[in-house]
Amino acid sequence: MKYIVVLPAAGSGKRMKAGHNKLFLTLRGKPILIHTLDVFEQDPNCMAIWLAVKPEERTIIQNMLQNYHITKVKGMPAGGDERQHSVYACVLAADATTGLILVHDAARPFIEPSVITKLTLRAYETGAAIAGVKAKDTMKRVRNHIIEETIDREQLWMIQTPQAFRASILIKAQQQAARDGFLGTDESMLVERLNIAVHVVESTYDNVKMTTQEDLLIGEAILQKRQQEEN
Ligand code: C5P
Repeated sequence: MKYIVVLPAAGSGKRMKAGHNKLFLTLRGKPILIHTLDVFEQDPNCMAIWLAVKPEERTIIQNMLQNYHITKVKGMPAGGDERQHSVYACVLAADATTGLILVHDAARPFIEPSVITKLTLRAYETGAAIAGVKAKDTMKRVRNHIIEETIDREQLWMIQTPQAFRASILIKAQQQAARDGFLGTDESMLVERLNIAVHVVESTYDNVKMTTQEDLLIGEAILQKRQQEEN
């Protein structure tokens, strides 16, 4: 399915303690941001990329796009204070009222093309589909270090991006959230508030978000494994 993708890249990455945007850190010599962009650059179904950036980082990112031959970025609106605002800025800039919009964290460089294909197909059929993996650990609700409840793991999924929506649904959800001053941790939460069913598509455990220093080690290991599989 054809789609456009919105990549929020305007975070400060405080938990990474890099001193600058964590997306500029390199894995195997290539910035994390470029690893992510490359996935969409190479996907023939991806029609355009919209990147939310910090205004002061626009020039450095523009140079990166040129150096790494990224051609599909159609706009780089200024991100907001919260990730949700950065995504909304991109959706407004893209001005797409029909078709599919995919939202993907720029900090998740290992998304598998096969997951994007499954996800966009499901979103095309249903209106809303997001990527996730089944919880592996035993999950408990805890308050003040005391267990309140063990939650049935069979029903628990760890949710990732990409999240794919029919444009009309995502825009309606974002407008409603803006009116209500509602802040969610992902776009699905905004859609769920409209009582629209959101479908979960099984993704891979290596679609990790580069958040802390340890994630960089995991990232290098994933790239090494993939290279070994290619050879
Ligand atoms: O901080 P975290 O990694 O959870 O953010 C997820 C993604 O959202 C990152 O790619 C980050 O650059 C982006 N972001 C943003 N604007 C913000 C906060 C985060 O574009 N205000």
